Amino acid sequence: MGNAIAVSTDHSNAAYDHLWMHFTRMGSYAHARVPTIVRGEGTSIYDDRGKRYLDGLAGLFVVQAGHGRAELADAAARQARELAFFPIWSYAHPRAIELAERLAGHAPGDLNKVFFTTGGGEAVETAWKLAKQYFKLVGKPGKHKVISRAVAYHGTPQGALAITGLPALKAPFEPLVPGAHKVANTNIYRAPVHGDDPEAFGRWAADQIEQQIQFEGPDSVAAVFLEPVQNAGGCFPPPPGYFRRVREICDEYDVLLVSDEVICAFGRLGTIFACDKFGYVPDMITCAKGMTSGYSPIGACVVSDRLAEPFYQGSNSFLHGYTFGGHPVSAAVALANLDLFEREGLPQHVLDQEGAFLETLRRLHDLPIVGDVRGNGFFYGIELVKDKTTKESFDAEECERILYGYVSRELFENGLYCRADDRGDPVIQLAPPLIADQSTFDEMEQIIRGVLTEAWTKL
Ligand code: PLP
Repeated sequence: MGNAIAVSTDHSNAAYDHLWMHFTRMGSYAHARVPTIVRGEGTSIYDDRGKRYLDGLAGLFVVQAGHGRAELADAAARQARELAFFPIWSYAHPRAIELAERLAGHAPGDLNKVFFTTGGGEAVETAWKLAKQYFKLVGKPGKHKVISRAVAYHGTPQGALAITGLPALKAPFEPLVPGAHKVANTNIYRAPVHGDDPEAFGRWAADQIEQQIQFEGPDSVAAVFLEPVQNAGGCFPPPPGYFRRVREICDEYDVLLVSDEVICAFGRLGTIFACDKFGYVPDMITCAKGMTSGYSPIGACVVSDRLAEPFYQGSNSFLHGYTFGGHPVSAAVALANLDLFEREGLPQHVLDQEGAFLETLRRLHDLPIVGDVRGNGFFYGIELVKDKTTKESFDAEECERILYGYVSRELFENGLYCRADDRGDPVIQLAPPLIADQSTFDEMEQIIRGVLTEAWTKL
């Protein structure tokens, strides 16, 4: 007989004993309760003690339509009863076909082919592999390297992690996939040049990509991976003209432009695909998270006809796939989610309210600890500083003590679930469900104001 495992009704003990949480210092829960969320409704979530929190991060940039949407749960149940599972390996099922067609309809240009995955990291992994095989098929086998940006996060599979620009996250797993190179991101708050001229800064930042292609040799570079608004580092929107120039560079050197929209797609910025918001047409879009508002997992790499063409010839095939890619239940939920977006005009709501959201957060500028408030759509970062004039940031000890030891904990204690992050400089990240309105923005601002006012006295 194996060890008897007492099933505890006190989730906090069972969580520590058995649930290995992701990106989590498990040791910190040896003598502390694991926060356990049991229910959600609209923009609110509730813990196992019945306490309410405002979900300031839509779970993890996921729950676009808000919590507790019966129609999404019903769509999942209906599909599970009809056909719970079938793979899309040489066979199709109706929901995957319908969803692929629907996503192709939303995607710009000739992005008409949809390769499903189960999440974002797999979508990024897929895009890199697809780029490599594409260039082998069209007789340019040397083109295999990729370029991405400093501090950007693109997922945890070893290819996606190589593309990620966060050395500390990669170090335990080196050596990763070779050939992934980094350039400057679009953090204009800390721009090394042209900090007071967004257009010039955008041109400079885009030209970093051209320079890197030249350094590596254009015949060796396959793709550039960019988020429309970079998350890690705290929401870096593209400066004006940035993506226009990047597109020109990619065309000039026959390098594929991958728009990593794992966070930014599905209304987060007010459009179904975020490249539309900034007026560029990539060669591939990677997406996941908000596609189902989190009611079931799925991801996708949306690919241009031009790229797909050689794969559709003769006996060629893309030698890649996932058992659960395009899962029928997830595809059905994604379709219901897109119906809901249309019926309720969620993307338009984001466009209508983004200015008010930003204005509300900008009130926090009167606090000495708030250096910058930036973002787009329903996606914002608040950067914390020690000195507003010099923009001096926290040191490692202050990040531990103030950001994690105080701000993060107190925001939650005070009823706001969001994220304090120091993958670049210390920031608070906000991305509520897309149903949020002025009352949500005000509640966030009030809670953050109280916590940051107190945090300043502890620096
Ligand atoms: N790409 C970006 C831009 C992301 O933000 C993330 C996750 O946050 C990923 C990829 C990885 O997605 P997943 O966690 O679904 O694998």
